[in-house]
Amino acid sequence: MNTERPSFGSLVFGDAAMKQYLAPSVYEKIQKTIKNGKHLDIDIANEVADGMKNWAIEKGATHFTHWFQPLNGVTAEKHDSFICTTADGDVIYKFSGRELIKGEGDASSLPSGGLRATFEARGYTAWDATSYAFVKGRVLCIPTAFCSYDGSSLDNKTPLLRSMEKISKAALRVLKLFGNGKTSCVRTTVGAEQEYFLIPEELFVKRKDLIYTGRTLFGARPPKGQELDDHYYGSIKPRVASFMTDVNNELWALGVPAKTEHNEAAPAQHELAPIFTTSNIAADQNQLTMEILKNVARRHGLVCLLHEKPFDGVNGSGKHNNWSMSTDDGVNLLEPGETPAENAQFLLFLSAIVSAVDEYPELIRISVAGAGNDHRLGGNEAPPAIISVFLGDEITGVLDAIEENRPYSSHEKELLRVGVHTMPKFPRDTTDRNRTSPIAFTGNKFEFRIPGAPASISSVNTVINTTVASKLNEYADILEGSDNFADDLHQLIRDEISAHRRIIFNGNCYSAQWREEAEKRGLSNLPSTPEALAHMLDEKNVRLFTEMGIFTRAELISRREIMLENYCKLICIEGLTMVDMARRQIIPAVNSFRRSLIPAETAYEREISLKLASLSDKAFSLVKKLERNVEGARALSPQDGADYCLNDVIPVMNELRSVCDGAELLTPESFWPFPNYGDLMFGI
Ligand code: ADP
Ligand code: MG
Repeated sequence: MNTERPSFGSLVFGDAAMKQYLAPSVYEKIQKTIKNGKHLDIDIANEVADGMKNWAIEKGATHFTHWFQPLNGVTAEKHDSFICTTADGDVIYKFSGRELIKGEGDASSLPSGGLRATFEARGYTAWDATSYAFVKGRVLCIPTAFCSYDGSSLDNKTPLLRSMEKISKAALRVLKLFGNGKTSCVRTTVGAEQEYFLIPEELFVKRKDLIYTGRTLFGARPPKGQELDDHYYGSIKPRVASFMTDVNNELWALGVPAKTEHNEAAPAQHELAPIFTTSNIAADQNQLTMEILKNVARRHGLVCLLHEKPFDGVNGSGKHNNWSMSTDDGVNLLEPGETPAENAQFLLFLSAIVSAVDEYPELIRISVAGAGNDHRLGGNEAPPAIISVFLGDEITGVLDAIEENRPYSSHEKELLRVGVHTMPKFPRDTTDRNRTSPIAFTGNKFEFRIPGAPASISSVNTVINTTVASKLNEYADILEGSDNFADDLHQLIRDEISAHRRIIFNGNCYSAQWREEAEKRGLSNLPSTPEALAHMLDEKNVRLFTEMGIFTRAELISRREIMLENYCKLICIEGLTMVDMARRQIIPAVNSFRRSLIPAETAYEREISLKLASLSDKAFSLVKKLERNVEGARALSPQDGADYCLNDVIPVMNELRSVCDGAELLTPESFWPFPNYGDLMFGI
């Protein structure tokens, strides 16, 4: 374990480093660019680049990269060294403003959903000056957005940045209505809690399913899972603690404020939560966090699994996206205030979010869609695919009183009027008892619990920002023309609550009754990725994104295509991995054990060998069927292929698994070809 603690942000070209390495006039200009998005002219960019390079070289960097988030979920980097040859053949270190601001690269092997092919094979990356550059290993990483030459976005960051701008503008219009003319920018803030599993590396390398797909495709349940609830918040084992220490040190050096660590519900499951920050920075920091979790684990002889559902029968891993809005002077707009006016403003922002979710539930579902997360949403222990919002009894009580035109409590005589009455104080901790809801108000922020552990949080935040911005604009349109602000505000909030109250549910979202109730309420329930993606190009969704300037129709079509393709490819890889493991490992193992029982003399030998013979035959015929169906899926278009995977590949995978897991329970461990669930989950 590394016991030396690097100081926080020591590997980040942040404010302190800029002050030290840039001339005061250059520092001032770059600050303006960061704060107000002011254009940076090339002379200044050259000076920033030079200072950044000098700083980076002192931190051990030899190369630089434009670090970006392409549409395959990971982060991409291509390294170029600082070295340059001069006219007289000398080698010097150089980094120009042009290289800092804009990178070009043949990125034609990254997913573009057909977008780039129609325009240009090359894409370019553009510096996101609001997210600080950092040194990772020997590379200076410059956070960037990735676009094609006609400006189409090819990454997850560009739309996020666009949506942040839109929601800031919309929120400023609303704040102005409440007499706030001094706020010049509203930031969306995000804290992404990251769940993950840790397993011993020596066991990981023995399982092809973990190697190729990140999750177990076979495995009978061990006698003990998470039923005793003895892992959650349990004491952290020394080996895990030492891993966490190294993770924290690396993250802190990179300026990621990792704050909380604890054991999660499932055996071998843990969580890391950072202090929240502006959403594009939070998205970059979360990508870094995932990378560092994986890298540090390997150094500790461990493997960090970020799959949404690595093990059947215990909890999967999510990424809780805590979201709020804050003014540039640090006022959280989702904090119920002290005065009637502050309360009224809070209620209007709250209405915007509740209504946005009710109007665009499919987009929220799509923003977290993928083959892996389908196992989690709708599983018994993760928020369901039914989109609803938890507000807690107190806030719901306030909304009820407003909607029904009655006093808030039985003791009060006056009707609850927005902007006139102060909302009752509610202690914060009573608002967050419900862990089953996909979207929960937790006192001063909303917690979106549906993103899966490996996802980039950019997508979900783009959807939240865009839908809420559109609602805020709608409100501003109504209220800006009002002659009687107080009355019209009250009426607007009342109307919005009535129109969207079906989305509010404070009960247990895991229950069967909720499924029935949600169906009666007409709420969206899209359990699988192909079903969700079928709604992506619904007219209202296309209209929202194009009118708000977040995606063009072409960008939406391409993104949908990529998601369908990824889904199909992933399922096919899983199917083929199962075919391989069953045919070359499981069935041979079962048969060698079965043969060892012959001649069968005892009842045990007779019964088990018969049972295993039958399971082996079933498994063998399913292997052949699965192989055929995977080939079938691969031959189809993305939409048909995805549907075929859902209906004809996944069910055969499930059948094959259940037969093989049955055989595992009858086969001695000495014959079983790879580590079992017990070994994996309790191996550390
Ligand atoms: P818990 O959920 O355990 O009660 P907190 O609510 O304090 O813990 O925080 C959970 C996560 O939410 C942390 O990552 C935290 O930084 C983040 N968070 C707290 N306040 C905000 C906010 N205003 N905006 C976005 N994220 C926030
Ligand atoms: Mg939380």
